[in-house]
Order: sequence, then C-alpha cells, then structure tokens
Amino acid sequence: MQHDHVLIAGGGIAGLTLALTLHQIGVPCTVYESVRELKPLGVGINIQPNAIRELEDLGIGEGELDEVGIPAREWALVGLNGKDIYSEPRGKLAGYNWHQYAVHRGKFHLMLYARVLERLGRDAVQLGHKITGYRKEADGSVTAQLVRADGTSGEVSGALLFGAEGIHSEVRAQMHPDQPDIHWGGTIMWRGTARSVPIRSGSSFVGLGTSRHRVVFYPISHPDKNGLADINWIAEKTFDDTHDWTKSGWFREAHLADFAHDFSDFVYDWFNLPELLQKSEKVYENPMIDRDPLPTWVDGPVALLGDAAHPMYPTGSNGASQAIIDARVIGRIMLDHGVSQASLAAYDQEMCGPVGGLALRNRGAGPFGLLNMVEERCGGVFENIDEVIPPAERSEFMLAYQKAAGFARDTLNAAPRTIPEGAKVVELAA
Ligand SMILES: Cc1cc2nc3c(=O)[nH]c(=O)nc-3n(C[C@H](O)[C@H](O)[C@H](O)COP(=O)(O)OP(=O)(O)OC[C@H]3O[C@@H](n4cnc5c(N)ncnc54)[C@H](O)[C@@H]3O)c2cc1C
Repeated sequence: MQHDHVLIAGGGIAGLTLALTLHQIGVPCTVYESVRELKPLGVGINIQPNAIRELEDLGIGEGELDEVGIPAREWALVGLNGKDIYSEPRGKLAGYNWHQYAVHRGKFHLMLYARVLERLGRDAVQLGHKITGYRKEADGSVTAQLVRADGTSGEVSGALLFGAEGIHSEVRAQMHPDQPDIHWGGTIMWRGTARSVPIRSGSSFVGLGTSRHRVVFYPISHPDKNGLADINWIAEKTFDDTHDWTKSGWFREAHLADFAHDFSDFVYDWFNLPELLQKSEKVYENPMIDRDPLPTWVDGPVALLGDAAHPMYPTGSNGASQAIIDARVIGRIMLDHGVSQASLAAYDQEMCGPVGGLALRNRGAGPFGLLNMVEERCGGVFENIDEVIPPAERSEFMLAYQKAAGFARDTLNAAPRTIPEGAKVVELAA
C-alpha cells in the first residue's frame, strides 16, 4: 500500500463524500463498509445550501439531485391551533446561490456510492468489512483491524484513518474509551413516507404542533403527472416517564397502532395527518439520540467525521450537511498540509469546538426552539403570533441558528470555493 493511502471506516454519506473529495484532490483512499450490500435505507433528509454547494463542486449537480429529491422552497412552523408561527423561503428563493434539497436518504446515498465506484473504481469500497479498532505505528502510520462478513479477520495499513461509521463508531469508542453512553432526551420519532399532494409552496417543510408533541412533513420527490409526491413525515412525542428507548434501535419497523392514536387530532382544513399516516406503507420508530460533544476528534493519524464525530438531533436538519462539510474541510486543509497528522490537527482545531456547540444547539431544539418560546410565553395558545414573539425576534432567532450551522446566506454566497477547481495535494501531484 502507498505511504499516502487513506483508510476510511464507514461508507455512509460522510465516508463516501470524503472518498470523492480525496479523489478530487489526488489522494488515494479505500472505504471499508460493514454491510455486505448498500441498500436505499432511510427516509427523508435535508441538505442545506452550504452542502449543496460542495456537491456541485464535486460535479454532482441539480440534475442528479432532482432524481433523488426536490429543492425545498419554504420552512414553516405552525401551532397546534393550525396558525402560522414562522415561515421563511429556503434555498434560491431566499437569495442563496444554491438550493436546499429535501432528498430520500437511501437514494441519495446510493447515488454517492455510484459516483465513487465510477470515479475511484470498484475496489475503492470494500463491502462486508467492519473496522473494529486501530493501532498507531511508530513510523506515524496507522493499522486498522477489521472483521470480514465471512467471519475472517485482518488488518490494513495507511497513512491516515478516518472513522466515519456513524453514531456507534468503533473508532470513536477506542479514541474515547470513557465516553458517556448515548444520550436520549425523551423523544421518540415515528417516520415514514406516503404518496400525497404537496401543500403550501409545493415543497414546504412544515413543523406542526408543540415542542413535545409535533409532526414534521415535507415532500422528497417532484410530483408525478397526477400531482402526487413522496411526502416524508416524522411524528414526534416526548415522554416524561422511563420509556425504554433502547428497544427502538435505529430504524426498527413499527406499526401505526403504536402511536397514531396520539396524533388523531392533527386534522385541519389544509392538512389531515391521520389520512397521511394511513397511506404509508412502512413505518419506522427511532429514538432522538445524540452523544455529548468530544474534546477532540483526532488521535495522531486517526480522525472522526460525520455522525461518528458529532451525532446530532435532527432538529436542525443538518446532520448530513455537516458530514459533507467535514469531508470538504478535510480536503481543503490537506491542500495546505498534505496527507499528514498536521492536517488532522488543523481540522480538529477548526471544527471540533464549533460543531460540538452546534450539536448542543440541536439538543436544545435547534430552530424548533421557537416552539418552546411560544409555549413558555402563552402555553401554545395564541390568536396573533406577533403579540407572542414579534417578527424581528423570530427572524433574529433563525439567523443566529443559520450562522452557527454555517449556512448564513450572505457569508456563504460571498465565500470562495472550499476546494479550488483542479487543486491537488502538491506532494502527491509532483
Ligand atoms: C441505515 C440508515 C438510515 C438512516 N436514515 C435516516 C433518515 O431517514 N433520516 C435522517 O435524518 N437520518 C438518517 N440516517 C442518519 C444520516 O444518514 C446521518 O445522520 C448523516 O447522513 C451522517 O452520515 P454518516 O455517514 O456520518 O453516518 P451514517 O449515515 O450512520 O453512516 C455510517 C456508515 O458506516 C457503516 N458502519 C458502521 N459501523 C461500521 C464499522 N465498524 N466499520 C465499517 N463500517 C461501519 C454503516 O453501515 C453506515 O453505512 C440514517 C443512517 C443510517 C445508517
């Protein structure tokens, strides 16, 4: 193996975006993914304009994204009484140079996988290879231990190892053996998709209800000739008692009977949740979980990214976007510092603190914090929202979140490309 070869544990959105980025800047890498076959798993996720910009710079443009999702036009919060609390345009309609996309996570993931195989070759992703740990070598390189799907074990060596294996990361567990358990704040989410006619702008993200009892829904496909699109929905309920969240696992299949009765009142003249739920083929249950921020994402030649580094509540719709940004920042820093431990140290210095802070903001409800404010101020009952939270305060609250998440419009539009076109890591290109 070349002395500059990079190992990536995990072929999710973080790992595959990193592979595409390293390939773009001329750094060889291999992705080790535990599952034997990648399938289109998951339901809807949002990809914010800052990450769409990076995908575009990777040669993944609107044409391809429109195959797996739809540009989001509006983000809205609505009270349990059906009245608007806040709404704002999104993506290009809000003056960004890039759309925000609402995509089917599984289809988007498989699209990235296809691009990796096309550009890096079929051997670049080793399926059925679970990374179980690492050893730092005296010469500064790293050896990763793995178990194959056939039960055999082995080792691979590289200059650097990236742990991109999600919230249950083994690389993270070794790097931080005393890390606290997964954190659950009391909320269970039931998710699914159903064919229906999109409402409001035709591509609106709507959060409806209270901070402890709400539904979020938005289309994740363009409508067909009959006007029907895939509508992603997430019904969320926060429990006071000791509900056993560990049974929910990650994407456990569930039944409408488990929860639909709690949402039978979500019926309005503009939206009928019980009807939407009835049209859903499959329903999944998962707990809203994250982990406490880490003091560092780096251990010598080993670094974390994506959910392995900063699993977040989905309240800010930015878990996947942040995974993409992590990968791009690593690429940018490598252009200056090469395939080196110095690159990882600089990445840690720039990202670990601020992104940990963002994860805590999401734990505090992220942009849904407006719902908490409505409840604190009027118990969720209002006639005129302007008397509860004046428009300027609502806008200020949202802007603060967007700044923290790195997608404040003017800053993003004015920023140069993260990775200049055609840039390569010099020591390798020479
Ligand atoms: C099956 C699945 C479905 C999801 N569905 C949704 C959804 O509907 N909505 C939503 O908001 N978010 C969903 N997510 C989470 C979302 O994709 C992530 O928050 C975000 O994209 C960041 O991705 P990531 O690549 O860091 O982590 P992940 O998406 O978790 O990807 C990690 C990858 O690493 C692999 N892996 C795990 N352990 C090892 C190991 N030891 N060695 C090698 N490989 C390993 C996993 O199989 C996976 O492919 C889902 C994640 C998964 C894995």
